[in-house]
Amino acid sequence: MFKDMLGHSRMKINFHTHTTVSDGMKTPEEAAALYKAAGYDAIALTDHYVFSAGGSLSGLKILSGAEYDTNLCCGEEGVYHILALGCARDPEIGSEKRLPAEKIVQKILEAGGTPVLAHPAWSLNQPRTALLLGDVAITEIYNSVSDAGESSRPYSGCFADLAACLGKPMLLLATDDTHYYAGNDETKCAVMVECAEDASESEILAAVRAGRFYATQGPEVHIAVEGDEIVVRSSPVSRISLFTNVAWADGYCSRGENLTEHRHKILPREKFVRAEVTDKDGKTAYTNYIVLRV
Ligand SMILES: [Zn+2]
Ligand SMILES: [Zn+2]
Repeated sequence: MFKDMLGHSRMKINFHTHTTVSDGMKTPEEAAALYKAAGYDAIALTDHYVFSAGGSLSGLKILSGAEYDTNLCCGEEGVYHILALGCARDPEIGSEKRLPAEKIVQKILEAGGTPVLAHPAWSLNQPRTALLLGDVAITEIYNSVSDAGESSRPYSGCFADLAACLGKPMLLLATDDTHYYAGNDETKCAVMVECAEDASESEILAAVRAGRFYATQGPEVHIAVEGDEIVVRSSPVSRISLFTNVAWADGYCSRGENLTEHRHKILPREKFVRAEVTDKDGKTAYTNYIVLRV
């Protein structure tokens, strides 16, 4: 467990992990041992088209999961990869890989799970995807493996901001989507979920759906509205940036050494805001959106 600068207890979790059960290069036990050694409190096993129940492995808490995709290859066809987190049972989506994305989402919800749109930048998803998949409120702003293999679109901030401009600010995870375990995609990202040390899987996912987390490659970050200002607080970083529906305005970025706070007076035209901070080693942390006005 991690105690943050505000005094809150947080679990460090990787919500997207593949193993030899599908196309990952480590067994579930090896993956669990590796994440435990790196200080994680839990991982979700999300093998392709294989439902994994929750429990524990190698002394690490395991969250139930799976990943389902539409088995298309090209952006203009609509490539969708959808994580099923915390299902109470196998959502029985089958392996024919021909279900439309909306049907996959429906089956995850029927199984009591939380659907997540994985790596929208890698999949070349259009921002309107966020509206088409109406019941999906969570996506990945960063996906480690998308920069570890033969692709390089790990960052989905532009997708998320355009979706927010369309009226749907999604919750933003950072995950490893671990496959290779060769130094580039394992133990790189975490979601820091505010919850009790003995939180159950359903309590952890309820905290995620409520947005009680930040996502990170290392730094700590928090965002709040205080009076007429946006305030970002972080561990010492070299850059703090704000992202809103306004393409450009003064005061959206601070650069320097050991920055721990950034303040910005809210502008009348700003509808939403989120923040990223990057430390001297280039590691970034991501807040969720705050909706300022609709
Ligand atoms: Zn995927
Ligand atoms: Zn994956």
